[in-house]
Amino acid sequence: MSQQHAFQAEVAQLLHLVTHSLYSNKDIFLRELISNASDACDKLRFEALHDAGLYENTPNLEVRVQFDKDAKTLTITDNGIGMSEAEAIDHLGTIAKSGTRDFMSRLSGDQKKDAQLIGQFGVGFYSGFIVADRITVESRRAGLKPEEGVRWVSSGSGAFETEAITRVERGTSVILHLRDDASEYLNRWKLKQIIGKYSDHISLPILMQKEEWDQDKSEYVLQADWEAVNSASALWTRPKKDISDEQYVDFYQNISYDNEAPLTWSHNRVEGSTEYTQLLYIPAKAPHDLWNRDKKAGVKLYVKRVFIMDDAEALMPTYLRWVKGVIDSADLPLNVSRELLQESRDVKAIREGNTRRVLTMLEDLARKDRLPTGEDWERLSDEEKAEAEADAGKFTRFYAEFGAVLKEGLGEDFGNRERLAKLLRFASTQSDAVGVSLADYKARMKEGQEAIYYITADTLAAARNSPQLEVFRKKGIEVLLMTDRVDEWALSFLHEFDGTPLQSVAKGAVDLGKLQDEEEKKAAEQAAESFKPVLDRLKASLKDKAKDVRVTSRLVDSPACLVVEDGDYSMQLARMLKQAGQQAPEVKPILEVNADHALVKKLDGHPQFDELAHILFDQALLAEGGLPEDPAAYVKRVNALLV
Ligand code: ADP
Repeated sequence: MSQQHAFQAEVAQLLHLVTHSLYSNKDIFLRELISNASDACDKLRFEALHDAGLYENTPNLEVRVQFDKDAKTLTITDNGIGMSEAEAIDHLGTIAKSGTRDFMSRLSGDQKKDAQLIGQFGVGFYSGFIVADRITVESRRAGLKPEEGVRWVSSGSGAFETEAITRVERGTSVILHLRDDASEYLNRWKLKQIIGKYSDHISLPILMQKEEWDQDKSEYVLQADWEAVNSASALWTRPKKDISDEQYVDFYQNISYDNEAPLTWSHNRVEGSTEYTQLLYIPAKAPHDLWNRDKKAGVKLYVKRVFIMDDAEALMPTYLRWVKGVIDSADLPLNVSRELLQESRDVKAIREGNTRRVLTMLEDLARKDRLPTGEDWERLSDEEKAEAEADAGKFTRFYAEFGAVLKEGLGEDFGNRERLAKLLRFASTQSDAVGVSLADYKARMKEGQEAIYYITADTLAAARNSPQLEVFRKKGIEVLLMTDRVDEWALSFLHEFDGTPLQSVAKGAVDLGKLQDEEEKKAAEQAAESFKPVLDRLKASLKDKAKDVRVTSRLVDSPACLVVEDGDYSMQLARMLKQAGQQAPEVKPILEVNADHALVKKLDGHPQFDELAHILFDQALLAEGGLPEDPAAYVKRVNALLV
């Protein structure tokens, strides 16, 4: 007796899209179904570690792809874990996979774009409906009786049916009743080509029936014997020299669902206290959920070629969560759990090895980012030149996508802080492009300059025009401009680079050290002295707003600016935390005034001293991207003066 079930609303929505979209690449359905079949075999292998009886005397796991021209069906069969009826109802009626949920949340409503997205994400089992108007699934879970099989049928609209069947073989058959416009898949050559393209690395044999030319019928006829059509050796286990770049790229696209080629990869057999194979890729494009720190890492864990888990976060530090790849350990037990992974010393060693490897890859890219010039270039062979040209600019591309997340490492990975610091790139008062390294900066430092100066702001324009930079500009001192949200937090972990302290120009008193000559210092002291009565009055007027008021040599053209004390959160960070709904300590800034400015000179004895004082403060706040506490009052004050 069959039973009707409704799809979960999200599945119905997804199916509607799958069945109504026009695809430029329909082939991906096969990749998805073979990948499910292979996962099912991996699951069986994993469960059988504890219960070898699950193999039911057929331990050779495989996937069969079979078509029937007359019935117009294409069937993908595996002898993996299989499904019980309850599991079929649950797994094929709801969306469990977070990737598919992600996908759903990105739908734009534009059919063409959404169809492309399906290709990129792959929507698993449901992609069968790209080519089929009806799908029948027959399955039996390993360990259950033959009578406990299930048949699941749906035409991809709102509902599906299930019924109990008898199925002797363990595992699952997915039978696609192909649409009229999908008859191209009733062709061995076509199927074989798709499998070669997308599923070659699957570590189980994918079998198809042999075909032979029949003279009488003058067509190819399927034979009774089967042969593997993929190479069935996990790519990472093959020697490097036998793997082409194209195969590496295909493999990457397979495990990452990224359309683009990766920027670079590194494939190694690591020997030492723990042995493992490592294949790591640096993607060219950041995923849309890069900023989700809870996102699982992109590295798959295998133990002796047996798939253990996706997203093995213990294998990569959080700031490298965007790295994709495979780790195959020879030493871990096959039944490792996530909890065990966290504590394993082998895993710790692998994680450190992975981190070092990624940093080395990045250093390599950074070194090759700019083309060699002059003699260094001439010395290269044509081949080397072509290679250099292909590598040039890759690090810049990488940094634009992942630079900000790499900075998290300063706070997370103290052991590699120096290596990370060398990889950082910034814009500066001398360069709009985010390409200035701390080493570049140091090499350009003025004689007598004792610190690496930087400023953090919301935008490049705000940073560049900030009043705090005036004296640096006047003296021709470069200042790094930082506009990533993580910058201030990250920089708080980096006190110095190569022996030179880093100093925010918006924190603490300016100490230009030897860059300021004796005369300037004396003049500044005198100004502060003679200005003391005005400062005292300012302090009194602004006692609720400013922690202190002092004369500064920081400013040239502006009358005033705000700074915070060394060690305090900057005004910008405090604002950002507030916007994010987080608790931020109340920062009371210090108002610094330029005693040479006409407006400031006017203060002394001015009848509306108090009003001017507030305007001065609020303007300084505006100049650095903040808003006066009471904007209306500010406007009123300015207008009163204008009138
Ligand atoms: P995903 O495989 O990404 O989780 P799918 O929509 O492709 O998402 O499949 C949903 C679920 O259906 C799978 O997680 C799995 O539990 C089950 N499933 C699909 N295909 C098979 C199969 N060939 N054998 C066993 N279970 C399967």
